[in-house]
Parts: sequence; C-alpha cells; structure tokens
Amino acid sequence: MKWEENVRKVVPYTPGEQPQRANVIKLNTNECPYPPAPEVAKRIAELQSDRMRLYPAFPEKTELAEELASYYHINQDQIFIGVGSDDVLSMAFLTFFQSGRPILFPDITYSFYDVWADVYKIPYETKALDEDFCIRPEDYKQPNGGVVFPNPNAPTGILMDLGQVEEIIAANRDVVVIVDEAYVDFGGVSALPLIDQYDNLLVVQTFSKSRAMAGMRIGYAMGQPKLIQYLNDVKYSVNSYTMNYTALELGAASVRDEAYFKECCGRIIKTRERAEEELTRLGFTFPKSSSNFIFASHRKIPAEVIFEKLKENDIYVRHWNKDRISNYLRITIGTDEEMEALYAALEKICGGES
Ligand SMILES: *Cc1c(COP(=O)(O)O)cnc(C)c1O
Repeated sequence: MKWEENVRKVVPYTPGEQPQRANVIKLNTNECPYPPAPEVAKRIAELQSDRMRLYPAFPEKTELAEELASYYHINQDQIFIGVGSDDVLSMAFLTFFQSGRPILFPDITYSFYDVWADVYKIPYETKALDEDFCIRPEDYKQPNGGVVFPNPNAPTGILMDLGQVEEIIAANRDVVVIVDEAYVDFGGVSALPLIDQYDNLLVVQTFSKSRAMAGMRIGYAMGQPKLIQYLNDVKYSVNSYTMNYTALELGAASVRDEAYFKECCGRIIKTRERAEEELTRLGFTFPKSSSNFIFASHRKIPAEVIFEKLKENDIYVRHWNKDRISNYLRITIGTDEEMEALYAALEKICGGES
C-alpha cells in the first residue's frame, strides 16, 4: 500500500503480562502488593459524578500539586504532573532532546527509553553497564544531546550513589539530565536536593510503585521553574487535559497519608530482605536491590526454564530474551504470603539444584 510509506513506524514497548484470571501471583510488573492509602478509599466515596461534566483542572493548579510541593518542600511551579511517569518521560524526551545529537542511556535499563527515542526520531547511544551491572559515570562525559537513567536502575535494582549522579549532572550542564526515580522510595537516595543547584536536572517519580496506584496513572517531574515551564508548553500543545478529575483527587489523598506510605515501603523492604535470604538458599545470585524487585539468576537452572515453570504454577515474574540479561528473572516483591508461595514453587523447581 502506497500510504504505508508515510506511516510513522515504531516497535512499541512491551509491558509485562497482565493476566486477567483470578488467583495468579503477579510478581512481574513491580506493582505494590498492598492497597493504596486508606485516605484514597475515603476520597473515592466523596467524588462527585457531577464534576465529570466539566473538564478537569490544570494539574499544576490542584491540591495534588500543593500536596506534592509541600511534601517535597518545593514550589508548585517546580512540579509537572502527568499520566504516569511514562507520560512525563515521554513529554520530557519530546521537549528537551531536540539537539540532533545522540542522547545517552545505559544498555540495560528501562526498555521504554529507546522506544521514545525512536518514535520522536531522537538519535541515541547506549552505554554498557560494567560487569557488575553498574552505571559508569565516566561514560556520560562525552558530548551528547541529553542523558536519562533510572536510579535505582531497572531491571537491575542497583542504586548509584548521589555523588556519582551529581558527577553525571555536573558533566552535562549544556543538556538536560533526567533521573528516573520510579523506585527511589524503596531505599534509594533522591537527586531532588540537587535541583536548586542544577538548572539542567529533571527528577521524575511515580505513584505506580511505592504509592500503589499504577491503575490511576500519576507521575510527576521536579526541576527548576524554567524546565517545568518548557515541559508544560509542549504538553499543552499536545493535549491540555491529560489528568482526569479522579486521578487528581485520589493522588492528593494519597500524598496526605504519609504514615501509611512510609509503613508500606518499610514492609516491602523487609520482605525484600527476607527474599534475599530465601533466594540465596535456593541457589540464586543477584545484585543488591534498592527497589521493590530482585534481579536474580540461578546458579544452575536457566532463567527461561524457571520462568516457564513458575508460570505453570500461576506465578508470573519477568524475563527478557535480551543480551546479557537472558539468564535473569526480575521478581517483584509481593506480600509475605505471595513470596512464601514463590519460595515453595522454586523449591520444587530448583530443589536439589541449589
Ligand atoms: C514503572 C516505571 C516507569 C513508569 O511508570 P508509570 O506507571 O508510567 O508511572 C518509569 N520508569 C521506570 C524505570 C519504571 O520502572
């Protein structure tokens, strides 16, 4: 078909499976195993269906923005709110990576970065993690069109210390550096305090993991007002009303309940520590995780075999048929009960092979 020559052709991002059957143990997309804050359920009951007649508020003018600003001790004009951090990151790519020079990100990282680069026709170059799966800051000191990396990195779970993060930001003052902190609440150290000092730093976070609200689609970016203004200019040139009334209300309710949030993250960290012991006992090795998942490889049994057998037991984890990581499984930390079921299944699969 002739018209196909004019199509923007892309290979889309593949998210983890979302099996719709009941009773599966879902440890494959880094969702939170616990419900959102009780404040969220309370606020749902107060939502007004009549408000849905109206277009929603501009996110930066809402209670959600106020709550986030006060939680992080920044001003409202330093926050951009979007439909999950995927929307925020996508807008940031579209806004800041315009130079025509290649942007840089790790070879093993969030697999959406190359997809956005492709769809927006942004050239990119990947930088290999070292043999321990760590990001090498020195790789990001060549001329480039921008830098993006998660910290902790995904799917490795490895945290880079703030000194090294700053080294990358400081070496790239002429471009925007995006630090994707989707997992920072599980033991990471945020680069947020650096935004005052670096006008080229954009810190991106999400409600999808630590706030148990992946289904509400709320993400945000923090940086100096000028960066945020540029992001808003592009966003309001694509779609003015991205955040719906419900998400804005429920997001605000979540941020209010700080005690619950802290407790929830603490529980996941505790379960992760126990998982480290159990997985070691079962014959796995893994880098130290600062996130809500463990990136593990079995000493003897191929990851793909374990992946398939777990699935037969209705336990879903994540596996990539990709260079360097094909023998690894990314296992999301679930409830203690779900994790016990995982260990029991792994015992059967790997028993005697540890
Ligand atoms: C989960 C994740 C995101 C996106 O999450 P949203 O649900 O879109 O907020 C972004 N970056 C990384 C590294 C992630 O793991």
